[in-house]
Amino acid sequence: MILENGVVRTMEPTLPLARALAIAGDRIAGGIGTHETALASPDRVDLGGRCVLPGFSDSHVHFPTWALAQRQIRLEDTASLDEALQRVALAAEHAEPGRWIRGLGWRAGDWSPPTEPTKEALDRVTGDTPAALMARDYHSLWLNSAALAHANGDLEIEGGVVERDERGEPTGVLREECAWHFRDTYVRPTEDEMVEASREGIRIAIARGVTSVHDKDGWLGALGVWQRLRADGSLHLRIWQSIPAEQVNDLEALHVSSGFGDNLIRIGYLKTFMDGTLGSQTARMLDGTGVQITSKEQLVEIIRRGGAAGLPVAVHAIGDLANREALDAFEETRAAWQPLGLRHRIEHAQLLAPEDVPRFAELGITASVQFSHAPSDRDLADRFWGAKTGGGYAYRSLWDSGALLVNGSDAPIEELDPWAGVCAGVLRTIDGREPWHPEQRLTLEEALRATTVNPAWLARDEHRRGKLLPGYLADLVVLDRDPLDLPPEALPEVRVVATMLGGRWVHNPPPWD
Ligand SMILES: [Zn+2]
Repeated sequence: MILENGVVRTMEPTLPLARALAIAGDRIAGGIGTHETALASPDRVDLGGRCVLPGFSDSHVHFPTWALAQRQIRLEDTASLDEALQRVALAAEHAEPGRWIRGLGWRAGDWSPPTEPTKEALDRVTGDTPAALMARDYHSLWLNSAALAHANGDLEIEGGVVERDERGEPTGVLREECAWHFRDTYVRPTEDEMVEASREGIRIAIARGVTSVHDKDGWLGALGVWQRLRADGSLHLRIWQSIPAEQVNDLEALHVSSGFGDNLIRIGYLKTFMDGTLGSQTARMLDGTGVQITSKEQLVEIIRRGGAAGLPVAVHAIGDLANREALDAFEETRAAWQPLGLRHRIEHAQLLAPEDVPRFAELGITASVQFSHAPSDRDLADRFWGAKTGGGYAYRSLWDSGALLVNGSDAPIEELDPWAGVCAGVLRTIDGREPWHPEQRLTLEEALRATTVNPAWLARDEHRRGKLLPGYLADLVVLDRDPLDLPPEALPEVRVVATMLGGRWVHNPPPWD
């Protein structure tokens, strides 16, 4: 197959542009003129001036959770507690008997007047049907009395918070480990539900140009979900899978190390958490506030055990102290993991003390960030972090220090939409307001590298994916115009036309006119 009459952006600096692209089997055969004669009577696809880029990677997505969230009560845009309750009431009318009411997306900081949610408020609209509503950042869970009854008062978990009223009764809000333990014990979706939702989710993702994801739902059994989807022919994404750090022994016993798998599904890395989040005010800060989930010493141990099993670590760190301690742990264990070439990552790296910024590049730790978080968190960050936000979402500073950045959505926290992420990285605004900390903007070229080339490197696929070069897998996206030819403010108008995975059109095959 030859794609011709368009703009092909290879993302290879020495050969950035081609007018056409030849594809043979699942690979790129070459630029036009070099290999076209090797293909007997090739299919020709007229790009009609459109632009071809390497397929997009989302480097931080909770895929089955996001896919399931498409079917739940969404509270993201609620302006008050009352509005949230009205929405729950509407869903409660149609709740199936015996099933949980599930929802997500609330953020008390977005409500006016500012109110903390309670079980009593929820009881009024749900009655006896158990309801579990996850906060937008997934670090707080709002439950009604019927839901709380499932735990029989057994709510406390180390590393978590049970919010209580003046009489010591649970208010209905659990945070961090308490929230997750409750969800995992009582509100867990079945594998059938995850498979069904993810099949539809894949269709949405590939329509947005996604060809690979670094998934974070290993703890939820995502590996089983992917294998069922592959078996029925509906897995049209390449998966780099997280595994909970607690399962390192299982992997070691089986001699399964990072990269184990096939062209579609691979075991990637261990996942753990240093702290909470901005929205729940549980990010661990140098000023002494926040919640510690994993100590530096515990992370050192996780890195060592991961290294012994051939697995790198992805550690969630939001606050400036959480990031410092994560970097300290990687530094302390460097002699053990560096000779193994393990590609570690800090997820979010959201608030950094200035002296910690250069340490990512010095240590070779990837900053796995979410460009969309900067403009969508700006008001909360200004409110909770004040003057410190100069070191928040510091993508330009990190890039200039030589750090490797990869971009993800953290879906379902943001929408799974890499192009929206690219625009957010370049524009630092999503709502027509002035850019937030414009000094931290990236160029389009940089934002694209963080969405194509760099994620492939992080998944040890730099010689097979992320660029459009001969011998690489033909994973690509066709855009309706060349974004590098546009003024930045026009970038949000760019549309995905089609997506190819391994030489096969998986979304909207040509012709397109
Ligand atoms: Zn996440």
